[in-house]
Amino acid sequence: MPECMNIRYAAGHSCYAGPAGKVWDLVMSHDARRFAREGLEEVARAAEQDKMVRKGSNMRAFVLQDGVSRLREDAPVPVPGPHEVLVRVLLAGICETDLQLMQGYMQFNGTLGHEFVGIAESGRYTGQRVVGEINCCPVARCARCPENRRHCPRRTVLGILQRDGAFAEYVAIPEENLHPVPEHVGNDRAVFTEPLAAAFEILEQFPQVTERRVLVLGDGRLGYLCAQVLASAGARVCVVGKHRAKLARCAARDLQTCLLEDVPREWMEQRSAEVVVDCTGSPTGFEWACRLVQPRGTIILKTTVAGTQTLSLAPLVIDEIQVLGSRCGPFSVALRALAEERIEVESLITARYPLTRIVEALELACRPDQHKVLVDIEVGHG
Ligand SMILES: [Zn+2]
Ligand SMILES: [Zn+2]
Repeated sequence: MPECMNIRYAAGHSCYAGPAGKVWDLVMSHDARRFAREGLEEVARAAEQDKMVRKGSNMRAFVLQDGVSRLREDAPVPVPGPHEVLVRVLLAGICETDLQLMQGYMQFNGTLGHEFVGIAESGRYTGQRVVGEINCCPVARCARCPENRRHCPRRTVLGILQRDGAFAEYVAIPEENLHPVPEHVGNDRAVFTEPLAAAFEILEQFPQVTERRVLVLGDGRLGYLCAQVLASAGARVCVVGKHRAKLARCAARDLQTCLLEDVPREWMEQRSAEVVVDCTGSPTGFEWACRLVQPRGTIILKTTVAGTQTLSLAPLVIDEIQVLGSRCGPFSVALRALAEERIEVESLITARYPLTRIVEALELACRPDQHKVLVDIEVGHG
């Protein structure tokens, strides 16, 4: 923000350099507008008062702690580590993973949220809208990264594993994780970069899928994105789901659809699906996939489910089924698809709440008739 940059430079006395300087920068970014009104002299005075610095460093954040979640008004503004930048969050998306985390998946403690668009407050993208990859490596010269960052044993994951996420006014993230958002891609599209990248990951892992008959199980958010990505790459796709309205949205994109209750018995008898992609987010998804996939076919698991599952692995051996776990994907590919309008995402947005009402937003997101619930971070901002 030019405004806060001016203040930063104007008040950039040498006494604010060093470790304290970092905190001071954050305060100004956070309360830049108020400080601008009050004048630079006031800013300089306030900076000398340590308690003022601490007060100004608070923000709203939705925090999960020991299984209890709540919106905090007094969460500390994150302090970016080396090579990290502070991002002012504009818009965040609620994802199935957030709902799973609230049920105990990963035993996560911290600020939730990993799908976001924001404005970089420092670093080479200062002032630009950015989205961020969620896997972060805290090690400076890590032998595995950046190529294997998604699987680095030392990684943290935004809002999922040992790193505060984006249901907050500010998030700290390694600069190398950021991707600038093309100007003509609005926030409502850009916020889908992370889940869309996850859909594109299937093409990276299993390029042959484009020549296969594919069943996508699940007509929710991820099912819709995966089906579009696979169909646009040439695969023959049919989406199987439980909700007529959601299937109608898929049909509107020229995707073949089938209600789960109407799945023909021959599909189980003949098992003609070469690939089945499980996007159900349900423990029963994998069982269905096993019943529908062809011997020597491939099951791609896109959803994570809290808790453990019991199932017999013998059918996988007997039928020589390949099971492929699939998680995060390439942001640059997803951003390009969004910029070129190859993938439709806006119809997924069914509700929008300010951060101050995130509890309602999360409750709503649990309902099966909801697709993507967005959280406007700026609305609650003074
Ligand atoms: Zn997600
Ligand atoms: Zn690493």
